[in-house]
Amino acid sequence: MPELPEVEVVRRGLADHVVGRTIARVEVAHPRAVRRHLEGGDDFAARLTARTITAARRRGKYLWLELGDAHPDAPNAAFASLSAPNAAFAASGPGGDAVLAHLGMSGQMLVAVPGRPDEKHLRIRIVFADEGPELRFVDQRTFGGLSVHPLAAASAGRLSDTAGGGLLPAPIAHIARDPMDPAFSLDDAVAAIRRRRTELKRALLDQTAVSGIGNIYADEALWRVKLHGARPTEKLTRAQGRAVLTAAAEVMDEALAQGGTSFDALYVNVNGASGYFDRSLAAYGQADRPCPRCGTPIRRESFMNRSSFSCPRCQPRPRGR
Ligand SMILES: [Zn+2]
Repeated sequence: MPELPEVEVVRRGLADHVVGRTIARVEVAHPRAVRRHLEGGDDFAARLTARTITAARRRGKYLWLELGDAHPDAPNAAFASLSAPNAAFAASGPGGDAVLAHLGMSGQMLVAVPGRPDEKHLRIRIVFADEGPELRFVDQRTFGGLSVHPLAAASAGRLSDTAGGGLLPAPIAHIARDPMDPAFSLDDAVAAIRRRRTELKRALLDQTAVSGIGNIYADEALWRVKLHGARPTEKLTRAQGRAVLTAAAEVMDEALAQGGTSFDALYVNVNGASGYFDRSLAAYGQADRPCPRCGTPIRRESFMNRSSFSCPRCQPRPRGR
């Protein structure tokens, strides 16, 4: 599953290649890819037609394309607004709307020159009015998809969100800011984690106190600050909370620096792997290999149907857990 740095690579690629372009038509090749768009594939296509993509945005692991107003002279504009079943959700609503991309396990956003042979698992094709490279959503396992939603005021992390005034697609309005967001508040996120009555790693992965930290980056951040993921959040000091979130941001920054140039000019691709994964991990996936700090073999423990990796010496389990 792609994590924040990989999603940011895709966002940057989309910002470079599709923002500012007007959509001419949309082909939905597989209904499962638009199943989160409850009004169906025809409505999905109609809402996008004649719209201009005005921004590519990301929060945590979520990615969306903001849409500008339909061009009044566009042949499909009238149909697009008539087909909106709810006026509050219409394209011209005050907050606007956006295409939310769910990458799932295997979803890819590809920017491909027209005429390039279709990928075997092509699910959605977005063709632009300028007849330039088209945007293809390709998904082998069909867990991902695209859907159009109104933009709504963020409902999580209110303390920090008032400063940024961020608008998010409604289904993800509860997702907190991620540590790479310019408006992220370290103190607010630490306070939110310390209010929980849970284990530290669960709070890091929960997406409502802080977003964008997945299993890999949680394990790496915990290793860096020498904390076990089972530490109770209510006993976490502010300094420990600040340290682990700062470490998570550093690890993701490093991953982005290493994986951030992995697409070529006409073929933007995300498949969940950056160069970081095999080269620089200290703990994640390193079971039985020596801890880079103390040489003790890294341990693997089961955690929420997955695995956690930590150093038994640097990161002792909290007593009684
Ligand atoms: Zn160690």
